[in-house]
Amino acid sequence: MFCRFFSSILPLALAILSPALASAQQGSPTNLSNPPATSPPPALAPLTTASTNALATTTVSNNPTAISTSAPAIVSAGMQAPVRQAPGTERSSFSSIHVDGPYIAMTFDDGPDAKLTPRLLDILKERHIHATFFVLGQRVQDHPEILQREIAEGHEVGNHSWDHKALNKLAEGGLQHELADTSELIKQTIGKPVTLMRPPYGATNPRLSRAIEKEYGMKVILWSVDPDDWKDPGAAVVSSRIINGWKQSGGTKPGAIILSHDIHKGTIEAMPATLDALLAKGYKFVTISELLALESKNPAPTPSASSSSSPSAPKSSNSKKHQS
Ligand SMILES: [Zn+2]
Repeated sequence: MFCRFFSSILPLALAILSPALASAQQGSPTNLSNPPATSPPPALAPLTTASTNALATTTVSNNPTAISTSAPAIVSAGMQAPVRQAPGTERSSFSSIHVDGPYIAMTFDDGPDAKLTPRLLDILKERHIHATFFVLGQRVQDHPEILQREIAEGHEVGNHSWDHKALNKLAEGGLQHELADTSELIKQTIGKPVTLMRPPYGATNPRLSRAIEKEYGMKVILWSVDPDDWKDPGAAVVSSRIINGWKQSGGTKPGAIILSHDIHKGTIEAMPATLDALLAKGYKFVTISELLALESKNPAPTPSASSSSSPSAPKSSNSKKHQS
């Protein structure tokens, strides 16, 4: 999800960045036509007058005009998810995984929420579904018991920063707080290290993502299905967008990483029907670490594809990525 500041600075940012964005869009025609301006969620995203970060500015090296101090978040948010790498090359982040079976991962960001997250956990438990929660340090502080329940019930927990700042706008000290302090608190809470990170707004870039992995020990996880649930379009719409897709999204496919938020009532209300429909289609829910472990070097069609209601396999190694 993206914060409201995109709306206000988008016109300026696009004017400044359009040449770079245009050249950065290789492989993803969707992003410019699906600008972050349509995204902004809640008050979770304080806009900082952040100093220019070396990590942020150096990533767009093939787009010199994009090295702007005005909007690195837009550059990065627009660039990161669609980056496609040849099979076998080391990736700096993950938006979907090539798998041989109907495996998908549900992810929930921005929690834990005192009321909604426990409701969601009940819904998941009834269906024996394991999900991945990308949590905010400041919320973990308030509700450590919810994190402990998530772990006890087989879910995975990842770092989503301390207070939802765009990481690519932060200097090193800020990164340390957002990443290391959050990981430390999660580790103290659940008793094991954190290995996954989702940058707020998906705002990262290859260099920052590699730094998050090498210096902070976490793989950067983005997403391939985004229902824009934070805009509260209603449970039925959220459900349909996840299952069938919308805009440029093709909906859920094997290997999909589905983005949602466990701080919105409509999202929680959408989950029973959404999860039941995906189960009925033959999908198997796994955590992000499990999905990563299932990665296939040579993705093959889903074995169960004989049934018309079964999920189809990814069409190619360039399986489409989406981002709002
Ligand atoms: Zn978020």
